[in-house]
Amino acid sequence: MSTRLILLGPPGAGKGTQAARLATRLGVPAISTGDIFRANVSEGTELGQLAQKYMNAGEYVPDEVTNQMVAARLAEPDAADGFLLDGYPRTEAQVSELDSILTGNGHELTHVVELTADTDEVVARLLNRAEEQGRADDTESVIRRRLDVYVEQTAPLVRIYAGRGLLVQVDGMGDVDEVTARLADALGSSAG
Ligand code: AMP
Repeated sequence: MSTRLILLGPPGAGKGTQAARLATRLGVPAISTGDIFRANVSEGTELGQLAQKYMNAGEYVPDEVTNQMVAARLAEPDAADGFLLDGYPRTEAQVSELDSILTGNGHELTHVVELTADTDEVVARLLNRAEEQGRADDTESVIRRRLDVYVEQTAPLVRIYAGRGLLVQVDGMGDVDEVTARLADALGSSAG
């Protein structure tokens, strides 16, 4: 069965690391909107220039721009038989866009996984990542803003997908390998 999975969770919950591991395991591409934006920023594209000011402030890039980018990415051949979305959808408007892309292709989501995390722990992790990777949006004030934006705009998506019977919650705290094992267990039992 094809896997069409969304990985939800606050910044710093470990979505990027786990997305890469899970995608390999499931044999689908991991599609990270944050990574696509960052690649555009480094390449200095028009999209990158537009996205950068939102990213640096910890705000979301406007839905229209993000939706168009994701529609184009999901139309690529490697996503035809499944995908893992990391960092999309993040707003209700993005949920609607994803629904219409999938409906248009005769596809459905198979899983929505929420990686849960403790706020103090994610702030500590992100500050640590700031030192290691030097991301422009990993300063403490921007981190706090990103967490607030997540609570305001993205946390409500958990209820939407729970209402559809698609949601699985997995504790994202602790050792990276342990979290991967939890995710594999959760998907194994819900995939049937
Ligand atoms: P991430 O790497 O997923 O933490 O994303 C980094 C930044 O990219 C976010 O703080 C947003 O500014 C932007 N971004 C990534 N995904 C989205 C999205 N689905 N909608 C709007 N902005 C996004």
